[in-house]
Amino acid sequence: MGGRGRELRREIAVLIETDLTGLPVLVVGPAELVGAVARRYRRAGAVVDVITAPDGLTPELRDRVRLAVLVGTASTWSGVREALAGRCPVVREPAAEVTRGRVALVGAGPGGVDLLTVAAVRALSDADVVLTDRLAEVGDLGALAPGAEIIDVGKRAGHHAVPQSEIERIMVQRALSGLTVVRLKGGDPYVFGRGGEEVAAAVAAGLPVTVVPGISSAVAVPGSAGIPVTHREVSHVFTVVSGHVPLDPRRAEALVHLGGTLVFLMGMHNLVPLTTALVRAGLPEETPAAVVERGFTPDQRSIVGTAATLPDLVASAGAASPSVIVVGEVVRQSEVWERRSDSHGVRSGPVGVA
Ligand code: SAH
Repeated sequence: MGGRGRELRREIAVLIETDLTGLPVLVVGPAELVGAVARRYRRAGAVVDVITAPDGLTPELRDRVRLAVLVGTASTWSGVREALAGRCPVVREPAAEVTRGRVALVGAGPGGVDLLTVAAVRALSDADVVLTDRLAEVGDLGALAPGAEIIDVGKRAGHHAVPQSEIERIMVQRALSGLTVVRLKGGDPYVFGRGGEEVAAAVAAGLPVTVVPGISSAVAVPGSAGIPVTHREVSHVFTVVSGHVPLDPRRAEALVHLGGTLVFLMGMHNLVPLTTALVRAGLPEETPAAVVERGFTPDQRSIVGTAATLPDLVASAGAASPSVIVVGEVVRQSEVWERRSDSHGVRSGPVGVA
Protein backbone atom coordinates (compact mmCIF):
# COMPACT_ATOMS: atom_id res chain seq x y z
CA MET A 1 0.00 0.00 0.00
CA GLY A 2 1.44 3.32 -0.99
CA GLY A 3 0.32 6.86 -0.19
CA ARG A 4 -3.32 6.03 -0.79
CA GLY A 5 -3.13 3.27 1.82
CA ARG A 6 -1.69 5.63 4.41
CA GLU A 7 -4.30 8.21 3.60
CA LEU A 8 -7.08 5.68 4.03
CA ARG A 9 -5.64 4.44 7.29
CA ARG A 10 -5.63 7.99 8.58
CA GLU A 11 -9.19 8.39 7.43
CA ILE A 12 -10.19 5.21 9.25
CA ALA A 13 -8.34 6.26 12.41
CA VAL A 14 -10.22 9.55 12.44
CA LEU A 15 -13.50 7.76 11.92
CA ILE A 16 -12.84 5.25 14.66
CA GLU A 17 -11.83 7.89 17.16
CA THR A 18 -14.87 9.94 16.32
CA ASP A 19 -18.01 9.14 18.25
CA LEU A 20 -20.06 7.12 15.80
CA THR A 21 -23.08 6.68 18.07
CA GLY A 22 -26.11 5.82 16.02
CA LEU A 23 -24.35 6.15 12.65
CA PRO A 24 -25.53 3.49 10.18
CA VAL A 25 -22.34 1.82 8.92
CA LEU A 26 -22.09 -0.90 6.33
CA VAL A 27 -19.12 -3.27 6.50
CA VAL A 28 -18.55 -5.13 3.26
CA GLY A 29 -16.12 -8.00 2.70
CA PRO A 30 -15.32 -11.68 2.88
CA ALA A 31 -16.87 -13.49 5.86
CA GLU A 32 -13.53 -14.26 7.52
CA LEU A 33 -12.54 -10.58 7.59
CA VAL A 34 -15.66 -8.58 8.34
CA GLY A 35 -16.28 -9.72 11.94
CA ALA A 36 -13.38 -7.89 13.57
CA VAL A 37 -13.99 -4.69 11.61
CA ALA A 38 -17.71 -4.73 12.37
CA ARG A 39 -17.03 -5.13 16.07
CA ARG A 40 -14.63 -2.20 16.06
CA TYR A 41 -17.26 0.07 14.56
CA ARG A 42 -19.90 -1.25 16.97
CA ARG A 43 -17.62 -0.43 19.88
CA ALA A 44 -17.47 3.14 18.56
CA GLY A 45 -21.28 3.23 18.76
CA ALA A 46 -22.17 2.68 15.11
CA VAL A 47 -25.21 0.67 14.01
CA VAL A 48 -23.47 -1.86 11.81
CA ASP A 49 -24.76 -3.96 8.93
CA VAL A 50 -22.53 -6.53 7.34
CA ILE A 51 -22.62 -8.01 3.85
CA THR A 52 -20.27 -10.73 2.69
CA ALA A 53 -21.17 -10.82 -1.01
CA PRO A 54 -21.96 -8.09 -3.56
CA ASP A 55 -25.58 -9.17 -3.89
CA GLY A 56 -26.16 -8.52 -0.17
CA LEU A 57 -26.57 -4.84 -0.89
CA THR A 58 -30.33 -4.30 -0.98
CA PRO A 59 -31.79 -0.96 -2.09
CA GLU A 60 -33.05 -0.38 1.47
CA LEU A 61 -29.55 -0.87 2.90
CA ARG A 62 -28.02 1.30 0.17
CA ASP A 63 -30.33 4.18 1.11
CA ARG A 64 -29.83 3.80 4.84
CA VAL A 65 -26.04 3.65 5.26
CA ARG A 66 -24.07 6.79 6.04
CA LEU A 67 -20.62 5.19 5.85
CA ALA A 68 -19.41 2.09 4.00
CA VAL A 69 -16.24 0.20 4.86
CA LEU A 70 -14.87 -2.11 2.20
CA VAL A 71 -12.67 -4.76 3.77
CA GLY A 72 -9.90 -6.60 1.89
CA THR A 73 -10.99 -7.81 -1.55
CA ALA A 74 -14.35 -6.06 -1.21
CA SER A 75 -12.70 -2.92 -2.54
CA THR A 76 -12.66 -4.68 -5.93
CA TRP A 77 -16.37 -5.44 -5.85
CA SER A 78 -17.23 -2.84 -8.44
CA GLY A 79 -21.00 -3.35 -8.18
CA VAL A 80 -20.95 -2.35 -4.53
CA ARG A 81 -18.68 0.63 -5.11
CA GLU A 82 -20.85 1.89 -7.91
CA ALA A 83 -24.09 1.42 -6.00
CA LEU A 84 -22.71 3.44 -3.08
CA ALA A 85 -20.87 6.11 -5.07
CA GLY A 86 -22.09 9.59 -4.25
CA ARG A 87 -24.46 8.34 -1.54
CA CYS A 88 -22.11 8.05 1.42
CA PRO A 89 -18.39 8.10 2.18
CA VAL A 90 -16.74 4.81 1.24
CA VAL A 91 -13.50 3.87 2.99
CA ARG A 92 -11.27 0.92 2.41
CA GLU A 93 -9.78 -1.20 5.15
CA PRO A 94 -6.68 -2.93 3.76
CA ALA A 95 -6.74 -6.69 4.32
CA ALA A 96 -3.23 -6.65 5.77
CA GLU A 97 -4.49 -4.71 8.77
CA VAL A 98 -7.29 -7.06 9.60
CA THR A 99 -6.04 -10.52 8.75
CA ARG A 100 -3.50 -10.76 11.55
CA GLY A 101 -5.31 -12.52 14.34
CA ARG A 102 -3.78 -13.13 17.72
CA VAL A 103 -4.24 -14.98 20.95
CA ALA A 104 -4.01 -13.64 24.50
CA LEU A 105 -4.12 -16.00 27.45
CA VAL A 106 -5.53 -13.91 30.24
CA GLY A 107 -5.60 -14.69 33.94
CA ALA A 108 -8.96 -13.76 35.45
CA GLY A 109 -7.83 -13.97 39.07
CA PRO A 110 -9.67 -15.93 41.73
CA GLY A 111 -13.07 -14.30 41.26
CA GLY A 112 -14.82 -11.00 40.73
CA VAL A 113 -14.05 -8.07 38.50
CA ASP A 114 -11.99 -6.31 41.20
CA LEU A 115 -9.26 -8.92 41.00
CA LEU A 116 -8.69 -8.58 37.27
CA THR A 117 -5.52 -6.74 36.34
CA VAL A 118 -5.63 -3.57 34.26
CA ALA A 119 -3.92 -5.55 31.49
CA ALA A 120 -6.67 -8.17 31.66
CA VAL A 121 -9.39 -5.51 31.39
CA ARG A 122 -7.58 -4.03 28.39
CA ALA A 123 -7.19 -7.41 26.69
CA LEU A 124 -10.89 -8.17 27.19
CA SER A 125 -11.96 -4.82 25.77
CA ASP A 126 -9.92 -5.57 22.62
CA ALA A 127 -11.29 -9.09 22.19
CA ASP A 128 -13.32 -10.28 19.23
CA VAL A 129 -13.78 -13.69 20.84
CA VAL A 130 -13.55 -14.72 24.49
CA LEU A 131 -13.19 -18.37 25.41
CA THR A 132 -14.11 -18.52 29.06
CA ASP A 133 -14.13 -21.05 31.83
CA ARG A 134 -16.15 -22.02 34.85
CA LEU A 135 -13.55 -20.63 37.26
CA ALA A 136 -13.06 -17.35 35.43
CA GLU A 137 -15.92 -15.59 37.18
CA VAL A 138 -15.54 -11.93 36.43
CA GLY A 139 -19.17 -10.89 36.43
CA ASP A 140 -20.53 -9.22 33.35
CA LEU A 141 -18.21 -10.47 30.63
CA GLY A 142 -20.38 -8.87 27.95
CA ALA A 143 -19.66 -5.44 29.45
CA LEU A 144 -15.93 -6.13 29.72
CA ALA A 145 -15.71 -7.42 26.14
CA PRO A 146 -18.35 -5.42 24.28
CA GLY A 147 -19.36 -6.93 20.97
CA ALA A 148 -17.19 -10.00 21.42
CA GLU A 149 -18.39 -13.51 20.78
CA ILE A 150 -18.34 -15.27 24.16
CA ILE A 151 -17.84 -19.02 24.17
CA ASP A 152 -18.13 -20.87 27.47
CA VAL A 153 -15.89 -23.92 27.31
CA GLY A 154 -16.12 -24.76 31.02
CA LYS A 155 -18.00 -27.48 32.78
CA ARG A 156 -21.47 -26.50 33.99
CA ALA A 157 -24.11 -28.54 35.75
CA GLY A 158 -25.50 -30.99 33.24
CA HIS A 159 -23.00 -30.07 30.54
CA HIS A 160 -19.64 -31.53 29.75
CA ALA A 161 -16.60 -29.36 29.44
CA VAL A 162 -15.33 -28.83 25.91
CA PRO A 163 -12.28 -31.13 25.50
CA GLN A 164 -8.90 -29.39 25.62
CA SER A 165 -8.10 -30.24 21.99
CA GLU A 166 -11.37 -28.67 20.90
CA ILE A 167 -10.69 -25.50 22.95
CA GLU A 168 -7.32 -25.18 21.24
CA ARG A 169 -8.89 -25.83 17.85
CA ILE A 170 -11.52 -23.09 18.31
CA MET A 171 -8.92 -20.68 19.68
CA VAL A 172 -6.50 -21.21 16.77
CA GLN A 173 -9.16 -21.29 14.08
CA ARG A 174 -10.75 -18.01 15.21
CA ALA A 175 -7.36 -16.29 15.48
CA LEU A 176 -6.25 -17.55 12.07
CA SER A 177 -9.36 -15.97 10.60
CA GLY A 178 -8.06 -12.60 11.77
CA LEU A 179 -9.75 -12.27 15.13
CA THR A 180 -8.29 -11.26 18.47
CA VAL A 181 -8.98 -14.20 20.75
CA VAL A 182 -8.82 -13.99 24.52
CA ARG A 183 -8.58 -17.26 26.37
CA LEU A 184 -9.75 -16.27 29.85
CA LYS A 185 -8.65 -18.57 32.64
CA GLY A 186 -9.30 -18.64 36.38
CA GLY A 187 -6.42 -17.42 38.55
CA ASP A 188 -3.13 -17.43 36.68
CA PRO A 189 -3.03 -19.16 33.27
CA TYR A 190 0.15 -21.05 34.16
CA VAL A 191 -0.98 -22.48 37.52
CA PHE A 192 -2.71 -25.79 36.78
CA GLY A 193 -4.42 -24.04 33.92
CA ARG A 194 -3.00 -25.82 30.87
CA GLY A 195 -1.75 -22.40 29.77
CA GLY A 196 1.50 -23.87 28.47
CA GLU A 197 -0.37 -26.20 26.12
CA GLU A 198 -2.52 -23.39 24.76
CA VAL A 199 0.51 -21.17 24.16
CA ALA A 200 2.15 -24.10 22.33
CA ALA A 201 -0.94 -24.54 20.14
CA ALA A 202 -0.95 -20.84 19.21
CA VAL A 203 2.79 -20.85 18.51
CA ALA A 204 2.47 -23.99 16.37
CA ALA A 205 -0.15 -22.19 14.27
CA GLY A 206 2.23 -19.25 13.78
CA LEU A 207 0.01 -16.87 15.76
CA PRO A 208 1.28 -14.00 17.91
CA VAL A 209 0.48 -14.86 21.51
CA THR A 210 0.66 -12.97 24.79
CA VAL A 211 0.07 -14.10 28.35
CA VAL A 212 -1.47 -11.77 30.93
CA PRO A 213 -0.74 -13.07 34.43
CA GLY A 214 -3.53 -13.40 36.96
CA ILE A 215 -3.79 -13.44 40.73
CA SER A 216 -3.58 -17.11 41.66
CA SER A 217 -6.02 -18.68 44.08
CA ALA A 218 -3.03 -20.55 45.55
CA VAL A 219 -1.95 -17.40 47.37
CA ALA A 220 -5.01 -15.16 47.27
CA VAL A 221 -7.64 -17.56 48.61
CA PRO A 222 -5.72 -18.50 51.80
CA GLY A 223 -4.93 -14.78 52.10
CA SER A 224 -8.59 -13.89 51.95
CA ALA A 225 -9.13 -16.08 55.01
CA GLY A 226 -6.29 -14.39 56.85
CA ILE A 227 -3.79 -17.17 56.17
CA PRO A 228 -0.47 -15.84 54.87
CA VAL A 229 1.34 -18.53 52.87
CA THR A 230 4.63 -17.37 54.39
CA HIS A 231 5.14 -15.82 57.81
CA ARG A 232 8.33 -14.66 59.45
CA GLU A 233 9.80 -17.32 61.72
CA VAL A 234 6.88 -19.66 60.96
CA SER A 235 7.16 -20.61 57.31
CA HIS A 236 9.63 -19.48 54.68
CA VAL A 237 8.58 -21.88 51.99
CA PHE A 238 5.25 -22.68 50.43
CA THR A 239 4.60 -25.46 48.00
CA VAL A 240 1.61 -25.51 45.68
CA VAL A 241 0.53 -29.04 44.91
CA SER A 242 -2.17 -30.49 42.69
CA GLY A 243 -4.47 -32.59 44.81
CA HIS A 244 -6.08 -34.02 41.72
CA VAL A 245 -4.48 -37.40 42.33
CA PRO A 246 -3.55 -38.78 45.77
CA LEU A 247 0.04 -38.35 46.98
CA ASP A 248 2.27 -41.38 46.68
CA PRO A 249 4.29 -42.09 49.87
CA ARG A 250 7.60 -40.84 48.40
CA ARG A 251 6.17 -37.51 47.38
CA ALA A 252 4.34 -37.14 50.71
CA GLU A 253 7.66 -37.74 52.53
CA ALA A 254 9.42 -35.18 50.34
CA LEU A 255 6.74 -32.57 51.07
CA VAL A 256 6.78 -33.21 54.81
CA HIS A 257 10.57 -33.11 54.80
CA LEU A 258 10.56 -29.77 52.99
CA GLY A 259 8.37 -28.26 55.71
CA GLY A 260 6.73 -24.87 55.42
CA THR A 261 3.24 -24.39 54.01
CA LEU A 262 1.49 -26.86 51.72
CA VAL A 263 -1.23 -25.50 49.47
CA PHE A 264 -3.37 -28.01 47.59
CA LEU A 265 -5.57 -27.01 44.66
CA MET A 266 -8.16 -29.34 43.13
CA GLY A 267 -7.87 -31.59 46.16
CA MET A 268 -11.27 -31.64 47.82
CA HIS A 269 -12.25 -35.08 46.53
CA ASN A 270 -8.92 -36.38 47.89
CA LEU A 271 -8.87 -34.63 51.25
CA VAL A 272 -8.78 -37.88 53.24
CA PRO A 273 -6.02 -39.57 51.20
CA LEU A 274 -3.98 -36.35 51.09
CA THR A 275 -4.00 -35.69 54.84
CA THR A 276 -3.57 -39.39 55.62
CA ALA A 277 -0.54 -39.63 53.32
CA LEU A 278 1.05 -36.60 54.97
CA VAL A 279 0.51 -37.94 58.50
CA ARG A 280 1.86 -41.36 57.47
CA ALA A 281 4.90 -39.59 56.05
CA GLY A 282 5.62 -38.00 59.43
CA LEU A 283 3.55 -34.80 59.54
CA PRO A 284 2.40 -34.29 63.17
CA GLU A 285 -1.34 -34.93 63.42
CA GLU A 286 -1.86 -31.66 65.26
CA THR A 287 -0.46 -29.57 62.39
CA PRO A 288 -2.99 -26.81 61.68
CA ALA A 289 -4.89 -27.24 58.43
CA ALA A 290 -7.71 -25.35 56.72
CA VAL A 291 -10.04 -25.47 53.79
CA VAL A 292 -11.06 -22.14 52.27
CA GLU A 293 -14.14 -22.65 50.14
CA ARG A 294 -15.41 -20.38 47.33
CA GLY A 295 -12.90 -17.62 47.91
CA PHE A 296 -14.01 -14.09 46.99
CA THR A 297 -17.68 -14.99 46.73
CA PRO A 298 -20.43 -14.07 49.20
CA ASP A 299 -20.48 -17.77 50.17
CA GLN A 300 -16.84 -17.93 51.19
CA ARG A 301 -16.17 -20.14 54.23
CA SER A 302 -13.11 -21.29 56.13
CA ILE A 303 -12.97 -24.59 57.94
CA VAL A 304 -10.03 -24.75 60.30
CA GLY A 305 -8.73 -27.75 62.20
CA THR A 306 -5.70 -30.01 62.14
CA ALA A 307 -4.32 -32.57 59.72
CA ALA A 308 -6.21 -35.18 61.76
CA THR A 309 -9.52 -33.37 62.23
CA LEU A 310 -9.94 -31.43 58.99
CA PRO A 311 -11.57 -34.16 56.84
CA ASP A 312 -14.37 -34.73 59.39
CA LEU A 313 -14.92 -31.00 59.92
CA VAL A 314 -15.13 -30.49 56.18
CA ALA A 315 -17.53 -33.40 55.74
CA SER A 316 -19.88 -32.13 58.43
CA ALA A 317 -19.76 -28.59 57.03
CA GLY A 318 -20.51 -30.03 53.58
CA ALA A 319 -17.70 -28.00 52.02
CA ALA A 320 -16.84 -28.76 48.41
CA SER A 321 -14.92 -27.57 45.38
CA PRO A 322 -13.67 -24.97 44.53
CA SER A 323 -11.62 -24.82 47.69
CA VAL A 324 -8.00 -24.38 48.60
CA ILE A 325 -6.51 -26.68 51.25
CA VAL A 326 -3.72 -25.22 53.40
CA VAL A 327 -1.58 -27.30 55.74
CA GLY A 328 0.98 -25.74 58.04
CA GLU A 329 1.62 -23.54 61.06
CA VAL A 330 0.61 -20.42 59.09
CA VAL A 331 -3.02 -21.53 59.47
CA ARG A 332 -2.84 -20.28 63.08
CA GLN A 333 -2.70 -16.74 61.71
CA SER A 334 -6.35 -17.10 60.73
CA GLU A 335 -7.14 -16.81 64.45
CA VAL A 336 -5.42 -13.43 64.48
CA TRP A 337 -7.55 -12.53 61.47
CA GLU A 338 -10.77 -13.59 63.20
CA ARG A 339 -9.98 -11.26 66.08
CA ARG A 340 -9.38 -8.21 63.90
CA SER A 341 -11.53 -5.26 64.85
CA ASP A 342 -13.61 -5.15 61.66
CA SER A 343 -14.31 -8.87 61.53
CA HIS A 344 -17.85 -8.77 62.90
CA GLY A 345 -20.11 -10.82 60.74
CA VAL A 346 -17.26 -12.38 58.81
CA ARG A 347 -18.21 -15.80 57.52
CA SER A 348 -16.29 -18.74 58.79
CA GLY A 349 -16.76 -22.36 59.55
CA PRO A 350 -15.70 -24.08 62.77
CA VAL A 351 -12.58 -22.30 63.90
CA GLY A 352 -10.20 -23.47 66.60
CA VAL A 353 -6.88 -24.97 65.92
CA ALA A 354 -6.16 -27.80 68.33
N1 SAH B 1 -5.13 -21.33 37.56
C1 SAH B 1 -5.89 -21.33 38.79
C2 SAH B 1 -6.01 -22.70 39.40
C3 SAH B 1 -6.71 -23.71 38.53
S1 SAH B 1 -6.95 -25.24 39.36
C4 SAH B 1 -5.25 -20.34 39.76
O1 SAH B 1 -4.13 -19.86 39.54
O2 SAH B 1 -5.92 -19.99 40.75
C5 SAH B 1 -8.54 -25.03 40.04
C6 SAH B 1 -8.47 -25.01 41.55
O3 SAH B 1 -8.12 -23.72 42.02
C7 SAH B 1 -9.76 -25.33 42.25
O4 SAH B 1 -9.98 -26.73 42.34
C8 SAH B 1 -9.49 -24.76 43.63
O5 SAH B 1 -8.62 -25.59 44.36
C9 SAH B 1 -8.72 -23.51 43.28
N2 SAH B 1 -9.57 -22.30 43.19
C10 SAH B 1 -9.66 -21.47 42.14
N3 SAH B 1 -10.47 -20.42 42.42
C11 SAH B 1 -10.88 -20.60 43.69
C12 SAH B 1 -11.71 -19.84 44.57
N4 SAH B 1 -12.29 -18.71 44.18
N5 SAH B 1 -11.91 -20.32 45.83
C13 SAH B 1 -11.34 -21.46 46.23
N6 SAH B 1 -10.55 -22.21 45.43
C14 SAH B 1 -10.31 -21.78 44.19
